[in-house]
Amino acid sequence: MQTMRAMLLEAPHQPLRLTELPVPQPGAGQVLLKVHACGVCHTDLHIVDGELSQPKLPLVLGHQIVGTVVQAGPGTKRFRTGERVGVPWLGATDGTCRYCGRGQENLCDHPAFTGYTVDGGFAEYTVADERFCFSLPATYTDVEVAPLLCAGLIGYRAYRMAGENVETLGIYGFGAAAHIIAQVAKYEGKKIYAFTRPGDTSAQEFARRRGADWAGDSTQMPPDKLDAALIFAPLGPLVVAALKATNKGGVVVCGGIHMSDIPAFPYSLLWEERLIRSVANLTRKDGEEFLALAPRVPVKIDVTTFPLEQTGEALEQLRDGQFVGAAVVRIEG
Ligand SMILES: [Zn+2]
Ligand SMILES: [Zn+2]
Repeated sequence: MQTMRAMLLEAPHQPLRLTELPVPQPGAGQVLLKVHACGVCHTDLHIVDGELSQPKLPLVLGHQIVGTVVQAGPGTKRFRTGERVGVPWLGATDGTCRYCGRGQENLCDHPAFTGYTVDGGFAEYTVADERFCFSLPATYTDVEVAPLLCAGLIGYRAYRMAGENVETLGIYGFGAAAHIIAQVAKYEGKKIYAFTRPGDTSAQEFARRRGADWAGDSTQMPPDKLDAALIFAPLGPLVVAALKATNKGGVVVCGGIHMSDIPAFPYSLLWEERLIRSVANLTRKDGEEFLALAPRVPVKIDVTTFPLEQTGEALEQLRDGQFVGAAVVRIEG
């Protein structure tokens, strides 16, 4: 039996453990991928911390996978052996529920999520449903393109949810998603105001370098009111801060899968048709649109790389905000 190195989560709150697992076999409709890179995401931390409470266990985390097809399972037809593909968080849907039927496959009643309900990419090999894999723009290297698959895609969906009437855009939490979507928003002519942890001047400087017109602490008011705000940090109080900073008719979009409680706030902050909404998962249409748009901008990706055995270290550095941009695990060999 062929084996592979993988980082395994055996239970919530446990450190990831480097281990040998059998190389998975592609089932009907699946491709077997040799993984080259896999991006690290806040969602991985929410799974490790037990805030997302229904993982497959034991589990290989990782849902921003870049790999090449090494074997195609029965009935597959989309990709040739040797082709580079990307695997995102949405691993499969039932295709038959009312949400799938109306173009909201991101809300499918019976989904599979990569690196959560099925094994992901912090391993030398993985299998994926070919219908949910993406072709990737050739201009990006493996480690550059990996963060586009969740930080980029979810950031893009959140940005689109902000609507059409946006001249001033606030971004709360300037990490992987923010640094990508700020460049897209700038390309589309928006003014960008970036908010970071209080006193995080290196993140503020990074935000200005990646297109922000202004960067400051999340406790500050921006120089102009916001038409929309995107929240990428998992902190409920930011919803209230963002509402205070928005114009009439403003939209506050929560981009994360988990957030701490939102404190009570006076109705006057919501009055005048302000809107709070969340963004859940992605559709394949989001992915196709965004992966076509990113190279046109062109979005530049700031990446810190880690070897496979340091995936846990990458997660802890993400928790503490120890690097700017995105973290990606590079799998050698
Ligand atoms: Zn469905
Ligand atoms: Zn993610």
